[in-house]
Amino acid sequence: MTRDRAIVLGAGVSGLTTAVAMALAGCRVAIYAAEGPAQTTSSLAAAIWHPFYQAPDLVYLARARHTYATMCRLASDAASGVIMKPLTEYFRRDAGEPWWAECAANLERVQDPGMSPRFACAYRMDVPVADTGTYLRYLMNMFLELGGTYVHRCVDDPAPLLDEADVVVNCCGYGSRRFGDDALSLSRAIVLRAARDDTVSGCHIDDSDPALPTYIVERVDDIVLGGTADPDLTSTVIAEPQIRDILHRCNGLCEGACALRVIDARIGFRPIRDKPRVARDDKHARLFHNYGHGGGGFTLSWGCAHDVLRLTGIESAGTGLE
Ligand SMILES: Cc1cc2nc3c(=O)[nH]c(=O)nc-3n(C[C@H](O)[C@H](O)[C@H](O)COP(=O)(O)OP(=O)(O)OC[C@H]3O[C@@H](n4cnc5c(N)ncnc54)[C@H](O)[C@@H]3O)c2cc1C
Repeated sequence: MTRDRAIVLGAGVSGLTTAVAMALAGCRVAIYAAEGPAQTTSSLAAAIWHPFYQAPDLVYLARARHTYATMCRLASDAASGVIMKPLTEYFRRDAGEPWWAECAANLERVQDPGMSPRFACAYRMDVPVADTGTYLRYLMNMFLELGGTYVHRCVDDPAPLLDEADVVVNCCGYGSRRFGDDALSLSRAIVLRAARDDTVSGCHIDDSDPALPTYIVERVDDIVLGGTADPDLTSTVIAEPQIRDILHRCNGLCEGACALRVIDARIGFRPIRDKPRVARDDKHARLFHNYGHGGGGFTLSWGCAHDVLRLTGIESAGTGLE
């Protein structure tokens, strides 16, 4: 039997997940990427499973559910950098359970008399959280162990690569704009990384204001505090008041956040599109796309990789990962 030859462009969470899923399905896969995992937008993410800034959407729900199940499985392997954490999400309007409630385990309404009066209700649930450095390395190692190859290469146009492979999958995130997608834009995000501390535990989110998402994500090695959502801003300068504002907002979710020792402040750029493009190319039948996941690249990763497999017609090996 000849195995399909596939080229996956990009080594962020979308590219690595897609490449692993295709390798598990028996393809001979090469990743071509301009930057390695540690230099990607993915490496800067808080990497909590959560449908950030997302209106109810059935396709999103199916992909998020698939990812949730897969990441729960990965959490049982300590080497993956994925752990299950309690998340408390705060809502300013009481509209009952969140629309994606069915995905998350142990969801319950929180009865917290100490909760700030600006919140109408809160829900607690268990969600997967990834330590990005460890998780992206883990995916890359899994990919290489499955016989995949990694090539450091910037691609100007994916179409000519169809001469080298049966299938090409573009997972270039915002880099896909170079291939002609003007519907893709950026949303700048400022996040802080703080040292772990007993006073702050678990994860806390209030994303009711799309311009000022506030979150605390406790991971294996650090605590990520966020954030901002600044459409089209590209400056990479972080001012002291912006750091103080994030700490102040986080302290409103979990007292003690203000006193955390901040290790660094970082800027990342979410690749925004009205919907992620997970589709066959309009002109080239063997070229596929998987990019534009906005603030949900981790949340959607395994579900989107699964959809890529389905679109290419490559049969899943049924390992439970892809
Ligand atoms: C601060 C921050 C916090 C976030 N927190 C979360 C969160 O908690 N949960 C969540 O689900 N999501 C979160 N996100 C969103 C998530 O990080 C992104 O949706 C995701 O990282 C996008 O991944 P990607 O693999 O598609 O793109 P990227 O990570 O940008 O990777 C793109 C890859 O393509 C390569 N590439 C680009 N152009 C070319 C080219 N021409 N040729 C070859 N290679 C190319 C790059 O080198 C790179 O390897 C966050 C984002 C930010 C910025």
